[in-house]
Amino acid sequence: MNATAFADQARAAVRDARGHLAQFGPDRPMDIGTEPWLADQVSALFASLEAGSARFCPHVTASPMVLHTTAWTPGVLVCGHCAPQLRPATDLEDSTCDRCRRYTRRIHSAALAVGAVLLTFGLCPDCMTAHPDYQAATS
Ligand SMILES: [Zn+2]
Ligand SMILES: [Zn+2]
Repeated sequence: MNATAFADQARAAVRDARGHLAQFGPDRPMDIGTEPWLADQVSALFASLEAGSARFCPHVTASPMVLHTTAWTPGVLVCGHCAPQLRPATDLEDSTCDRCRRYTRRIHSAALAVGAVLLTFGLCPDCMTAHPDYQAATS
């Protein structure tokens, strides 16, 4: 996999996504600019692509495909087949809200599509209700 070629492709996708609203959930558009922690996640992702430090699973090719990454595996992008391997390594991380970083007994998973990249994150019940579009993502 040529990381530079992919970064070019990803940058184009992100320009596109930023020009419109990032798509959140099946049909609800969401402006990630209103959610700084999410914008940080996306910036970090593309910084790793541009720096060439992003890591890919062996199945990622230069042809367009949906890539999966998570809030707890920054700079790691894998194909749909490998996506389950991105599950948190520890129970503690599995129960930490990615928005407020608080430990929670009940974590809700949500995802944001940024171009061809699907970013998965976990939210505590408080954060889940903090933004109307988070609610939509898991309904
Ligand atoms: Zn793979
Ligand atoms: Zn939270």
